[in-house]
Amino acid sequence: MSKITMTTPIVEMDGDEMTRILWKWIKDELILPFVDLKSDYYDLGLENRNATNDKVTVDSANATKKYKVAVKCATITPNAARMDEYNLKEMWKSPNGTIRAILDGTVFRAPIIVKGVDPYVKTWKKPITIARHAYGDVYKASEMKIPGAGKAELVYTDCNGNESRELIHDFKGAGIVQGMHNLCGSIESFARSCFNFALDTKQDLWFATKDTISKKYDHTFKDIFAEIYEKEYKAKFEEAGIEYFYTLIDDAVARVIRSEGGYIWACKNYDGDVMSDMVATAFGSLSMMTSVLVSPEGNYEYEAAHGTVQRHYYKYLKGEKTSTNPIATIFAWSGALRKRGEFDNNKELMEFADKLEKASIMTIESGLMTGDLALLSTLPDKQTLNSEDFIKAIRKNLETL
Ligand code: NAP
Ligand code: MG
Repeated sequence: MSKITMTTPIVEMDGDEMTRILWKWIKDELILPFVDLKSDYYDLGLENRNATNDKVTVDSANATKKYKVAVKCATITPNAARMDEYNLKEMWKSPNGTIRAILDGTVFRAPIIVKGVDPYVKTWKKPITIARHAYGDVYKASEMKIPGAGKAELVYTDCNGNESRELIHDFKGAGIVQGMHNLCGSIESFARSCFNFALDTKQDLWFATKDTISKKYDHTFKDIFAEIYEKEYKAKFEEAGIEYFYTLIDDAVARVIRSEGGYIWACKNYDGDVMSDMVATAFGSLSMMTSVLVSPEGNYEYEAAHGTVQRHYYKYLKGEKTSTNPIATIFAWSGALRKRGEFDNNKELMEFADKLEKASIMTIESGLMTGDLALLSTLPDKQTLNSEDFIKAIRKNLETL
């Protein structure tokens, strides 16, 4: 059998722990036998990040700007415990944060739906994709504890030294204050990433804030989205037969629950943090959630939404077979290969990506699955496989397609 050829590489970002083990099995069983893979490889495993003073992460992000498509394995974000475990020179920053800062992107997370694993919300039939703005607001806020009576104000000093002030509160006793910000440029990038991704995936785009209460802060988000939509995207949306829909955040929450899914829900930073966990849980499992970072220039980085599954890795190191679910990582690969195919007009590669996803879903729907899904699945005859056997079962199905 001749392998599918590629004209342009994808950027491959290897990672840590159990997902690094799955990465190799997925490549060996499901990618390399079928595709003559061209990849620009970066080892983002923590040891190599430490050895390169994290330069490898920056290099991989820059390579993504060059080739436009990347696939990333889950990586450890170091904390105090990891400093000791890996004998780190520094507590390196989250690779995802570093890559996102370089690409200026928005993360879109979507569930993979299979028969037998039903969403907790009965009406949901199609995936709900959450787009979270990844800059500012409460995540970059300055806070103060107010010890007692006194005035708290917002003060802005322009470059000529002119001040404008806004009273926050005239405190009579102790309290708290918080000052947060966002950047029009960042909101514009967020908006464009969302509009582009909606066109890309032919889904409606919803956006919601609390503009009735926050008449300047949240209203600016609403206005920027509206302006960019009218100027740059309205005609394209109409042509694609999709809709941009703005509403208040509380109304959006109510509508999401009543909906059947099948749209992108753009959220401000905090809303996205909270709502993505709700949506992920309601769809069943974090191990069935994919994630793609889309930059406003149209660069794409695909990954699984879950972490490195540390607990399973320690079992693996002891020689135990684990039943870690590789689906989200497989879909990261299929997403990246499909996008590569689209950019390069490589029909075979796009078809392969479709087949890989189909084979994965077929396998689960035939009753063969990993332990996390077996706990959730309502299929009558289900069988729990370890990761390796599960990947081999997918390969068997893939060979029939
Ligand atoms: P995690 O890797 O997502 O795993 C948490 C738990 O969720 C696991 O112990 C497992 O539960 C279950 N789980 C997650 N993915 C699974 C899968 N594919 N198959 C089966 N079960 C799965 O989160 P963590 O243990 O909190 O974090 C581990 C490391 O990942 C941390 O160092 C963190 O920094 C990193 N992280 C990286 C990313 C990223 O690169 N995008 C994202 C999040 C976290 P059971 O143990 O009950 O089976
Ligand atoms: Mg969160």
